[in-house]
Amino acid sequence: MCSSFCRHRLSVNGPLAITFVLILAGLSPWSSADTTDADIARSSNTSDWLAYGRTHDEQRFSPLTDINATNVGQLGVAWHLDLPNDIGLVSTPLVANGVLYFTGSMNVVRAVDARSGKLLWTHDPKVAEEIAGRKKTGWMHNRGLSLYGNKLFSATWDGRLQALDLQTGKLIWSTRTFDLGEPLYITGAPKAFKNKVLIGNGGTENGPSRGYVTAYDTDTGKQAWRFYIVPGNPADGFENNAMAMAAKTWTGAWWKRGGGGNAWHAFTYDEELDTLYIGTGNGSPWNRKLRSPDGGDNLFLCSIVALDPDTGEYRWHYQTTPGETWDYNSNMDIVLADLDIKGKPVKALLHAPKNGFFYVLDRSSGKLISAEPFADVTWATHIDMKTGRPVERPGARYEDGSENVTPGPYGAHNFHAMSFNPNTGLVYLPTIHMSVDYIDKSYDKTWQSVPFEGGTAVDYIESSRPRSYAGSLQAWDPIAQRQVWFVEQQSGQGAGTLTTAGDLVFQGRSDGLLKAYHARTGKELWSFDAGLGISAPPITYKLGDTQYLSILVGYGGGNASRLTPGSEDLGWAYGVHTRRLLTFAFNGKDVLPKQPPPFYATPILEPGFTVDPALAAGGEKAYLSLTCYACHGIGGIAGGMAPDLRASPMALSEMEAAFTSVVRDGERVARGMPGFPAITDAQLNAIRHYIRREARAASSSTGAALGTP
Ligand code: CA
Repeated sequence: MCSSFCRHRLSVNGPLAITFVLILAGLSPWSSADTTDADIARSSNTSDWLAYGRTHDEQRFSPLTDINATNVGQLGVAWHLDLPNDIGLVSTPLVANGVLYFTGSMNVVRAVDARSGKLLWTHDPKVAEEIAGRKKTGWMHNRGLSLYGNKLFSATWDGRLQALDLQTGKLIWSTRTFDLGEPLYITGAPKAFKNKVLIGNGGTENGPSRGYVTAYDTDTGKQAWRFYIVPGNPADGFENNAMAMAAKTWTGAWWKRGGGGNAWHAFTYDEELDTLYIGTGNGSPWNRKLRSPDGGDNLFLCSIVALDPDTGEYRWHYQTTPGETWDYNSNMDIVLADLDIKGKPVKALLHAPKNGFFYVLDRSSGKLISAEPFADVTWATHIDMKTGRPVERPGARYEDGSENVTPGPYGAHNFHAMSFNPNTGLVYLPTIHMSVDYIDKSYDKTWQSVPFEGGTAVDYIESSRPRSYAGSLQAWDPIAQRQVWFVEQQSGQGAGTLTTAGDLVFQGRSDGLLKAYHARTGKELWSFDAGLGISAPPITYKLGDTQYLSILVGYGGGNASRLTPGSEDLGWAYGVHTRRLLTFAFNGKDVLPKQPPPFYATPILEPGFTVDPALAAGGEKAYLSLTCYACHGIGGIAGGMAPDLRASPMALSEMEAAFTSVVRDGERVARGMPGFPAITDAQLNAIRHYIRREARAASSSTGAALGTP
């Protein structure tokens, strides 16, 4: 049965149409062809990379075979673009009609010629000016853009969604998606589909937070619909039946602490089933004992929620971690694939959330097909296939005590993208191996999170490791639900993957190596030292006769704020190494300016300074509550997102006036350091005592705390 639509499609697929396309490509970099859902869904389009996961299915699979397992060793740098003012780079570039678009630090968007790297335009949303004087820290990176019609969409740290002109970068419209007074932020890529563009936000740890996603009209920026992820105060009435249903799974006065659920990453539009899937976040706060004191699943935390893309109406959900209490959000990417399971074709949805189980769902219904652990898991023994629910290990909820649990709050998989190769049938999954002790001793019923100071209502420390290595890249068979190959990695921060029909898997690593592996065996085939940690996934595209591979190089994301120890050992100290966009092709001959070697901060002692222990303790408290740690690192040890204050001349006594003008007056706001206008002289002084205390502690230790090589 072929409709007239189908015949129309066939009629433009002949030789004439191909000629027409080639003529258009010859006219590039500019073309007026609008990008449609059919364009984004079409896997055979290899000249572009139109969406975050390349196509609407988010597979990050390219059918290109020019670069393949037999010749990948011939890759060289074709061109590079230095980004001297950028810091952390985590984004996936897009390519359309010969132009490559990407978002850098502070949400600056750039367009470059995809063949030469020549900069065509820059759009700076002036994020620092927007946040000036407000307590917003730590989220200057963003994971990507969205392209639809004739517009490019970008979301900003401070909560704006912007539509840009593809050809000039000029702002077409801008809309605020949350009030600046809300303790929320955006690090995610918008998702455009069916003349709408969707964005969520993060902030479950930034204060009392109630998550939502909002769809806007791509032409006008007017709000089309909004879907809240957790119910609000019942006294205010529920927005829809889904919220009334969800409220039955909450207890106590959950709305006073927000509830959470913030959708900060995964949005997948299913063009075939005309359905939108969103991956939802953890609780605000994490500790369910405080959030929902008499228990409950707490819908729609840690779930895949399927929505009507036109109205935002609820269709189905699958909750991966009912009653979550470990920060096990389900924000990780959602990949669509057609699988043959026990002889039956299944429209599957693949998902590997933080909690360590790999889920295969039937995406037409939300029904669980299978779930098995893809990493060490101790919070649950297995997923009961009758109920679709995890069977928890007694004690895993750590209530009123302390419990070692795997995975930790970073999850067994985080935002770093997995890819799926339909030829090998395998998923390529960056995996984190981490255990922590969750400690529930200092929190009682009176605990309340404060906007921008936030909190989780649970403490945690990394006290042991489940394995001798912190990370791995693994190939996972989603049908057999088993690992096929894996590669050990010392760091648990391997970046997102790309896979191709050339039997290849590409992945950048936090130690600066970009590697290619054989997709079927995991054999390493190629390695390139970028001289700086990589936190972004690669893309590929073909223009003319050349297949290109592009990747942003610039250690970043939450790891660069040293939310867990280890980043300082890499040596990607703030301001030392040049951030870059690198593009490879066969026999590329571009010569890269050499990067300095890894750099390790040397704390300054300031011998004339007498540390007052009480003042230093107060300074530590202020450092934490003002969220200085979100960029400068826990314990004053920086991971690369911002200067290591122990080694900063700015924190010395002789620089007191300058220190005040940076911290209070926001003198360096353009570099991402917000001003804290309400900070008192006493707090500033106490923080200086804290910094000096930490500097001395480091120098009196063996040097291990500094990551000395
Ligand atoms: Ca979280």
